[in-house]
Amino acid sequence: NTSETITGRFAPSPTGALHSGSLVAAVGSWLMARSCGGRWLLRLDDLDAPRQIPGMADDILQTLEDFGLVWDGKPSRQSCHGEAYELAFRQLQQQGLLFPCGCSRREIAQAASAPHPDDDCLPYSGTCRSGMNQHATIRSWRVRVREEEICFNDLRRGRICQDLSRYCGDIVVRRGDGEFAYQLAVVVDDQLTGVNQVVRGDDLLGSTPRQIYLQRLLGFPQPGYCHLPLVTDPSGNKLSKRDNLVSHHLGNWRGRENELLLAVLRFLGQLPPHELTGASCEEILDWATGIFDVKRIPTVGGCLQM
Ligand code: GLU
Repeated sequence: NTSETITGRFAPSPTGALHSGSLVAAVGSWLMARSCGGRWLLRLDDLDAPRQIPGMADDILQTLEDFGLVWDGKPSRQSCHGEAYELAFRQLQQQGLLFPCGCSRREIAQAASAPHPDDDCLPYSGTCRSGMNQHATIRSWRVRVREEEICFNDLRRGRICQDLSRYCGDIVVRRGDGEFAYQLAVVVDDQLTGVNQVVRGDDLLGSTPRQIYLQRLLGFPQPGYCHLPLVTDPSGNKLSKRDNLVSHHLGNWRGRENELLLAVLRFLGQLPPHELTGASCEEILDWATGIFDVKRIPTVGGCLQM
């Protein structure tokens, strides 16, 4: 349905301050939504309580405001969606697709022949599919996957296919301690808030087929996807919140947010004219909203030229 209003979102985890890589995802998703008159929602992915840093959620909201990235409505929080996760969990259970797993991360990692290229994935061979050792503790709840390719059309990368059983195996949807896993949470969150366009970094491309599989099982509509190139450090590694690269710390751009915003637009292939030098973030975003074209986003990421 092409007449449907686009609803995009940005979903940072308050486990650290935003860095220039997160800013690319924020600006990219903002522009994808705003350039076609869509809405842009903000969600705090605060499921993993122990890894959160107090005050970080407010810091993230303030940073987005400083860059002129205005969101619609109130920010939502994963920590308020527990009931919806529980419902989805039960729905999967009723379909007979859930099973408890007693394998520890270490055991699974040891069984793997080689490290997986995707850090979010620990390939699981299905050890507990037909029942786990009765005396073992439940470490996770998994959803059985089939040997079938899940394909989708990424708005930037084109057609992407993945065989779930070969890539990662049965999907962890809940931990043994009851906490829901990211893969399930994100699918429920996006459905709950009416998100129909997911724009985020390429680091999550490998998770998308798992999320689509869960959406299909739960009968949720599939959002459009666009994965953006990643910002790397000078040696080509993906930036992380643990890195201490001074120039990537958004706090160090206070008062010069507009300069970094122009750099982010260049990174996304939307080349701002010289006249925008010194303009406010609002003016820059206004200009970008008018000219934004997903086809100009480069294929590969790299360093952010500031
Ligand atoms: N909260 C996730 C992160 O910060 C992003 C979730 C998503 O965009 O689906 O990496």
